[in-house]
Amino acid sequence: MNPQDKDPQTGSFGFHIERDLLCTVNSDGYFTSLNSGWERVLGWTREELQSRPIIDFIHPADRERTVAELAKVARTDYQVVNFENRYRARGGGWRWLRWSARTDGQNWYAVAFDITQDKETEARLRGVLTDEHLLAYSQPILDHRRGEIVQEELLVRMRNTTGTDRVLTPAEFLPDAERTGLIGLVDRWMSAHAVALSRQGRRSEVNLSAVSIGDEEFTGRLEKWIDRAGVNPSNLVFEITETAALEQLDVAVGFAERLTSLGCRFALDDFGTGFGSLTHLRVLPIHYLKIDTSFVRDAATNRDDQAMLRGIVAIARELRMMTVAEGIEDARTLELVSDIGVDYAQGYHIGRPAPVG
Ligand code: C2E
Ligand code: MG
Ligand code: MG
Repeated sequence: MNPQDKDPQTGSFGFHIERDLLCTVNSDGYFTSLNSGWERVLGWTREELQSRPIIDFIHPADRERTVAELAKVARTDYQVVNFENRYRARGGGWRWLRWSARTDGQNWYAVAFDITQDKETEARLRGVLTDEHLLAYSQPILDHRRGEIVQEELLVRMRNTTGTDRVLTPAEFLPDAERTGLIGLVDRWMSAHAVALSRQGRRSEVNLSAVSIGDEEFTGRLEKWIDRAGVNPSNLVFEITETAALEQLDVAVGFAERLTSLGCRFALDDFGTGFGSLTHLRVLPIHYLKIDTSFVRDAATNRDDQAMLRGIVAIARELRMMTVAEGIEDARTLELVSDIGVDYAQGYHIGRPAPVG
């Protein structure tokens, strides 16, 4: 866990006193105190750890950077945040630690997190989030009034790396990609597909993660692609989930304004799952509200869901947004959302996600 991350269970920031590694280090580079986390993670006893300078435990490739940081101990109140290096474990091998520390001019007061598993996951994922393994699927979106498929949503899949034919769904690799910050690679790959499709005159929606909308390099690259491809920008729809938008509303507004000023469109995904108020609907330049499956799934029989759908459609109309109902699995639900006035429909009943043709 990053020290800046919020613990989902406690909702608080910071470290876990039993799980994480706490220590003080003096200006000679020796541990002066340690909690038991150190013995558990590295396997050395407290005495062994305190008998040698810290630098003796550090991976040769990380030594120079570490020495440079340790030397700053005399700068009172200097802080190190998320410094990463490898430690020799007693049983052989190395453990990655991520450090945050502060100095009082004589000692470091530090907390470190064991991030070895994340590093391993990251290395494995980097190897597979490539052209060779990623697959672009798409699912049709129906304008039921006109009886026409008007656009498609791009959905990522992955070729199985173990030699079987089964294709992996996002649930099997996106959470790790999200946790390790590599989700941006997926978004970039899928956005390139969307631009290519728009060149063929196809309108597609591409899902973007919170990381991507806050990534200046990605946004700049996207603008360049759109400019160079000479495509009709309204054929590109960028989806971001309501939860991601609310987490960093200013960033989401900035991103959406830049892309909509080029003529691209913007959709708020999984609408209805993230909000406590409706303020964000006024500040985001939204073309499409994608109503979350949870309101649609049982709508044919559940009057509360029907009431919610009517309410959402009324708000969207007032704000001049189009609505899309996700997760339409049967004719009855399609008829219902169409009667309620939802503009577009998406779901297995209309078409399952399939490889982009
Ligand atoms: P989403 O954007 O809300 O996409 C809709 C999900 O609902 C898709 O799941 C789709 O296959 C599924 N679905 C469509 N119709 C039905 C239906 O009638 N019934 C049911 N039960 N499900 C239906 P999928 O493809 O597994 O994707 C899951 C999520 O992963 C997506 O939810 C999206 O948040 C994320 N995702 C997919 N591709 C990308 C991507 O390229 N980048 C990013 N950042 N996220 C992606
Ligand atoms: Mg989506
Ligand atoms: Mg959705």
